[in-house]
Amino acid sequence: MEYPMICFNGGRPNPDGTFSDRTRRGMISVIIHEVGHNFFPMIINSDERQWTWMDEGLNTFCQYLTEQEFEEDYKSRRGPPYKIIDYMKGEKNFISPIMTNSESIFQFGNNAYGKPATALNILRESVMGRELFDYAFREYAQRWAFKHPSPADFFRSMEDASSFDLDWFWRGWFFTNDHVDLSINEVNVLTGEDLKNKFKKVPDAFKDFINDETYYYEMTFENIGGLVMPIFLEFEFEDGSKVEQRIPAEIWRMTGDKVSKVFTFEKKAVSISLDPKFETADVDVENNYWPKKMVKSKFQEFEELRTKK
Ligand SMILES: [Zn+2]
Repeated sequence: MEYPMICFNGGRPNPDGTFSDRTRRGMISVIIHEVGHNFFPMIINSDERQWTWMDEGLNTFCQYLTEQEFEEDYKSRRGPPYKIIDYMKGEKNFISPIMTNSESIFQFGNNAYGKPATALNILRESVMGRELFDYAFREYAQRWAFKHPSPADFFRSMEDASSFDLDWFWRGWFFTNDHVDLSINEVNVLTGEDLKNKFKKVPDAFKDFINDETYYYEMTFENIGGLVMPIFLEFEFEDGSKVEQRIPAEIWRMTGDKVSKVFTFEKKAVSISLDPKFETADVDVENNYWPKKMVKSKFQEFEELRTKK
């Protein structure tokens, strides 16, 4: 769909003047989208024929932000991480990396609109934070207004305007067709006493660290999907309280696809969840819990709903 063709857009009411919520949203979303194209690529003038994602992906991302500003709980079609899961876990032979010439991509909508928009949304909300992301994104737009940016110009501007090393993020989301699937492989719970027994004689350097009131959670994680992401955890304790831990993606830097880390708390945890707020588009959440828990599939949920009636 091209911007001047906005006059042919749908959104017509029924003959009696009524219209469904879906029609209304469809119309508002397309108007927001086409107006956005005044900026990407009409002013920040990337080459749509080479790299469709540079205008459609960035514009779909801006569309998502605008829709959320426009109305509380606006049901955006693209942007929320969970919406890209079905595409990313699909048959890899039919998923090209975003960084593929636009003549050669499968699934145009998911590849050039949905996935880059979702990636930027995740980058803003869960990796960089809104303030830093927005500063860098504006800087890119201002630097490249009335010029012809290529993908490298976008990647470079986002990094040097924010002082954030995002090579790992561009590589995973833009240069591969990997998906996100992190798992909790193992949790060893040790008490101070366990550690003292293990060490026999506790080295002086560890004396302050090892005490009887502390629980030590030695956790092993695995990157099954290949796409590197930060590790977001929620520990729930016996007294019902919860603590969040957010470990930057750099934890994977030297470790390959498995990594271990020790967490210490004065309370006993009853459960640990990985990506508890579904921020990362993790395609398999069944391996995200300790102790393991069954996660209902959409089909099971539907069956239960159906047989209840
Ligand atoms: Zn468009």
